Amino acid sequence: MKPLPDPPAAVLDRLTGARGRQDRLTHTEHLPARPARYADWPEEIRPEIAVAVEGIGIARPWTHQAEAASLAMSGQNVVIATGTASGKSLGYLAPVLSALLDGTESANGRGATCLYLSPTKALAADQLRRLGELRKAGDGALDLVRAAAYDGDTPFQEREWVRQYASLVLTNPDMLHRGILPAHTRWASFLRALRYVVVDECHTYRGVFGSHVAQVLRRLRRLCARYGSEPVFLLASATAAEPGRTAGRLTGLPVAEVTEDGSPRGETVFALWEPPLTELQGEQGAPVRRSATAEAADLLTDLVLDEVRSVVFVRSRRGAELVAVIAQERLAEAAGLATARRVAAYRGGYLPEERRALERALHSGQLLGLAATSALELGVDVAGLDAVLLAGYPGTRASLWQQAGRAGRSGQGALAVLIARDDPLDTYLVHHPDSLFRQPVESTVLDPDNPHVLAPHLCAAAAELPLTDSDLELFGPSTAPLLPQLERRGLLRQRPGGYFWTRRERAADAVDIRGGGGDPVRIVEADTGRLLGTVDAGSAHTSVHTGAVHLHQGRTYRVRDLDLDDSVALVDEADPPYSTVARDTTSIRVLDTDREVAWGDATLCFGSVEVTNQVVSFLKRRLITGEVLGETKLDLPPRTLRTRAVWWCVTDGQLEDAGLLPEELPGAAHAAEHASIGLLPLFATCDRWDIGGVSVPLHPDTGLPTVFVYDGHPGGAGFAERGFQRAGEWLGATLAAITACECERGCPSCIQSPKCGNGNEPLDKGGAIRLLRLLLAGSTGPGAESM
Ligand SMILES: [Zn+2]
Ligand SMILES: [Zn+2]
Repeated sequence: MKPLPDPPAAVLDRLTGARGRQDRLTHTEHLPARPARYADWPEEIRPEIAVAVEGIGIARPWTHQAEAASLAMSGQNVVIATGTASGKSLGYLAPVLSALLDGTESANGRGATCLYLSPTKALAADQLRRLGELRKAGDGALDLVRAAAYDGDTPFQEREWVRQYASLVLTNPDMLHRGILPAHTRWASFLRALRYVVVDECHTYRGVFGSHVAQVLRRLRRLCARYGSEPVFLLASATAAEPGRTAGRLTGLPVAEVTEDGSPRGETVFALWEPPLTELQGEQGAPVRRSATAEAADLLTDLVLDEVRSVVFVRSRRGAELVAVIAQERLAEAAGLATARRVAAYRGGYLPEERRALERALHSGQLLGLAATSALELGVDVAGLDAVLLAGYPGTRASLWQQAGRAGRSGQGALAVLIARDDPLDTYLVHHPDSLFRQPVESTVLDPDNPHVLAPHLCAAAAELPLTDSDLELFGPSTAPLLPQLERRGLLRQRPGGYFWTRRERAADAVDIRGGGGDPVRIVEADTGRLLGTVDAGSAHTSVHTGAVHLHQGRTYRVRDLDLDDSVALVDEADPPYSTVARDTTSIRVLDTDREVAWGDATLCFGSVEVTNQVVSFLKRRLITGEVLGETKLDLPPRTLRTRAVWWCVTDGQLEDAGLLPEELPGAAHAAEHASIGLLPLFATCDRWDIGGVSVPLHPDTGLPTVFVYDGHPGGAGFAERGFQRAGEWLGATLAAITACECERGCPSCIQSPKCGNGNEPLDKGGAIRLLRLLLAGSTGPGAESM
């Protein structure tokens, strides 16, 4: 890998100055280089480990690696939360390998074992490869460590060997949940000897998925206790606020944190970029900015022509493929087909062989530009990039730093560019650099006590071993009231020995821990029957309804038919000049109000709701420009969702005092709802697609004008709760975003929403500002004083 041809500032100059794009740059942040800080391995670490590590070119560990190893060796659970490429794995591998070597010398049976969990199979495979390198460097000393992957790809004839003989098993939470824990008796000797559990990339366990993983880990701990082991948990996280607390919530144990990063960093230039306004008009005549996708494709084209090795992170699969296709076209025109072929798309959802081919091309340098979804964050080593483009804010500051950290390894300079999408959050951020560069990263939100999450794990646990009173504390406060309910539903039966699972089917099969809910929908090419990929059941109505345009590997497909009974979307290859956007209607009912605070005459609440949603039609939008071409009705059944919501109500008297007329109220409340959904990700680790909203001028349950924001997953995921806790700051930022927007009557950068079920009708920008001002005037929550 050749170093950057020029310092990052010079590369940025060529992207802007040389091409007349200076006005698109809203801010440039220079992050200075940071020198490395070294320490010594703790004395308990076996000398063979230090030798092997030296063999891969590391003479002394960085401070955070040594600190984590030392805590682990002393038997403390520990989470390492440092930057991308800071060698977190070595921090936990050193104590793990050392313990495994110690174990091989003890005569009693199998010796020590370790379980390694990663969110993806690809990451586990990568880790196994790195272990191989370390072993080679150890020159025979580490041969006694028997490492093996155990996942869906492991051939059946190898599985028995892994269970009986492997000392380090690499797997994922899904396999632990469905494959290992239900068959624990076959894993008895492994579990009995379990010394360490490594939870890699633990920040990805957030929301509903994180809550499920938290319960899977509790089931693991329970079985270990039964077999007489009490493993130490070693976690690795991207930079996050309060990592020890989150890791504690995930594991149910006290966890020490290591956050002082001792690794070196090259100079990084971080640019904030706002695409220009176009001549086009959007919904309700709003001004339209150039899309982040089109802008990113242009910048990628220029970087590739400049021989700058770059990755673009795009939020959607479809967007990643569009960026690659557009850049390829531009490069073919500018420099010929051979150069065009040096750009590709990478995202999750590909079949394994497709993924591997792309990874190889990237490693070999055959690829110069890659457009990827955040799937690339996990499991694929993309060392040695010069530039990272982020087409849209990735949802959290933690992901922002993780993605930006892909550039400029081992002390090289690096360029990162955040390209704003036309939405309230992105626009707010590129004009408020302090909220990116002078704010701590968010903490990871998860809610293991969600009864929707907990109930199936109690069933699975009961199937593994009968549940007794001694398990109540382990599974948390929701457990005691849930058990009799599960018995009434005929799932568990109470006998003298505890609660038993009585059904014939496997309890663990009843729950999909990725939170999709229901079977994923398969995408099948109608003419050939070829399986192209899958989408989860929750988003199928929106993304692969009949008539939807779906992209895969740069090819465009049109959905011929969505068959909900068989969970199949039949598609044809097609090349329409438009994309599609689903439209839906939503109503909401309050089931329970758990918490309520008064903000003057206004009230802010948190509780349980039932949301009824129906996808009713879709719009065709011209590619790139986003112009709306027409609307088509759909006939899909409504779906109901019981979840958690935060909502606020104002009184008629307040509206009168603020001079807000009754006819202005629907547009004002609707606009405030949209913008607040757009800004919530600044405070909770969610994105706007994880949450939804409803605004009602007179809601039957509250009797008042009410705006709801709810979690889009059954039982909630903690996002609405976080909104309630930080309501003052959250709604304050919402007001600031609307007030600061330069549009006249509302645009996608402030109050318009790309997923509005009502075509962004009605919206009242001025009304929203007055409504939020009167709400915040009485606010007492944190952040309220800033208004
Ligand atoms: Zn605007
Ligand atoms: Zn709306």
